[in-house]
Amino acid sequence: MEKRLIFSPDTFGKWARRYRVGFPCLTCTENCCTDYLIYITHADLVQIQSALPEVPLSEYVDVTSVSVDDYPEVRIEGRPVRLVIKKAQGSGRCVFLASGVNLCAIHGFSPYICRMYPFQIPYDDYRELEFRTGVKCREPFLCPEEQIPELIQMGKTFWRHDLPRYAALVEQWNRLHAEKNLEAFVHFLLVSSRGERGAVW
Ligand code: SF4
Ligand code: SF4
Repeated sequence: MEKRLIFSPDTFGKWARRYRVGFPCLTCTENCCTDYLIYITHADLVQIQSALPEVPLSEYVDVTSVSVDDYPEVRIEGRPVRLVIKKAQGSGRCVFLASGVNLCAIHGFSPYICRMYPFQIPYDDYRELEFRTGVKCREPFLCPEEQIPELIQMGKTFWRHDLPRYAALVEQWNRLHAEKNLEAFVHFLLVSSRGERGAVW
């Protein structure tokens, strides 16, 4: 069994001696923002839409038929799909990847999956942060020590609150509105989460 890299206030010092603390994304050529599908929940959607209210949702929300564990399957126009961030046509780049550089245009409010990458919270222990196996990063890089509690809290919120809530909303939608389109689903998520109407599609 592969040894897990675990970061916690107790083990940070040990790993800090082996790996540099840093942010290697700026010089990385691994294209993680192009090659991966970015699955989202209602919580990601609310966060992005609140920060970019003037940007039509149809410019950055899409669905995929590629299945994945954890994120539930939703029925849109009768088809089983999952909600994702849109890719630029032709290139496969995430629409939020700034052109010419490896920078996320929505870094401060990017989806959970992006903010956590390349780390994750172990399913069996919400107190620590671990380096995911099989990531594209060429070398493990350390989360700055002061960010560990913040990421752990974010992971807890995702597993205990956001994902179960999203699964419940999807279950309700599939039962009542499975034949409706993506625009209707996105508005259903926003209205169910914030009770507001009027977001631009
Ligand atoms: S593969 Fe890793 S190091 Fe490279 S851009 Fe993505 S997160 Fe950053
Ligand atoms: S939202 Fe940002 S971090 Fe996530 S894939 Fe797109 S550009 Fe990359």
